[in-house]
Amino acid sequence: MGEIHEVIIVGSGPAGYTAAIYAARAQLSPILYEGSVTAGGALMNTTDVENFPGFPEGVMGPDLMDSLRKQAERFGTKLITDDIVSMDLAGEVKTIKDGSGNTLQAKAVILATGSAYKEIGLTNEKRLSGRGVSWCATCDGFFFREKVIAVVGGGDSAMEEANFLTRFASKVFVIHRRDSLRASKIMVERATANPKIEFIWNTEVIDVLGEDKVTGLKLRNLVSGDESDKDFDGLFVAIGHLPRSELLVGQIDLDGEGYVKVDGRSTRTNQKGVFACGDLVDHTYRQAITAAGSGCQAALDAERFLAGH
Ligand code: NAP
Repeated sequence: MGEIHEVIIVGSGPAGYTAAIYAARAQLSPILYEGSVTAGGALMNTTDVENFPGFPEGVMGPDLMDSLRKQAERFGTKLITDDIVSMDLAGEVKTIKDGSGNTLQAKAVILATGSAYKEIGLTNEKRLSGRGVSWCATCDGFFFREKVIAVVGGGDSAMEEANFLTRFASKVFVIHRRDSLRASKIMVERATANPKIEFIWNTEVIDVLGEDKVTGLKLRNLVSGDESDKDFDGLFVAIGHLPRSELLVGQIDLDGEGYVKVDGRSTRTNQKGVFACGDLVDHTYRQAITAAGSGCQAALDAERFLAGH
């Protein structure tokens, strides 16, 4: 074990990398755990990011993350491409164990583990995952050339997925449980103007059909209660995200949905020296730019905490 580090950052989305840039520039020699397969976070599965300030022509999600990563590294962040398997966040010295069996200690920890795709919760959704069921159009859309696809959800993600999938699919049906969309106006306009996209309103998916691959969906109309089967070649689930806080249960205060609770507008958790930022704390805004902003706050909060100790 040996050295007690100033700060360890867990997570490598816009929040984690921004926290690292600020902590590194504050001479805190941060160590950042990027994750073994998820380095870069949710933006790695995005194509064009059109609303991150400073990029008038837009920027590709993976390019943006690569730039943030390089910027964090440039000021001396030590990046570790591994997962955290357990944490002990109580007490003055925090202990973290990673997937390679290393144990590290630090006076402060910044949690920026983001969120994971939400599942509908159907047995056959899981069974046919990777065989027609997907959560990532940019990863899997290519496999659906000239196919008929269903996208479930009514938010920005669903609109983005649906639009992207029309590059490949012959037809995309957006299945939404209500009759109005949650997505932003510009995304709705784009989707409704797309001739390949059709909406199925007030409807939920109650089963995914198919033996070895998806062949269709069992749907229920939530107004009439009628059930029907409809043929599809693929199902893209875009119904939001859940905070990745599994390792934190019992360690710090979480709200009913599993988001980390922070003190007012700060990033301070109920555990002294532990700070949380990005999608892990935010069920409202959840944008790359707000995550980056809260990563900056977390680094400043950690810096102040360390200066006081
Ligand atoms: P979201 O805004 O929470 O929308 C989730 C959608 O899925 C809602 O329409 C919801 O229905 C539906 N849903 C939730 N649980 C469901 C279930 N069990 N079964 C069926 N439908 C279900 O999530 P999101 O679309 O992932 O967006 C998250 C955040 O990221 C938002 O702030 C969004 O603006 C942002 N985002 C932005 C962009 C962009 O600007 N380019 C792209 C993607 C995401 P109800 O409407 O009935 O609740």
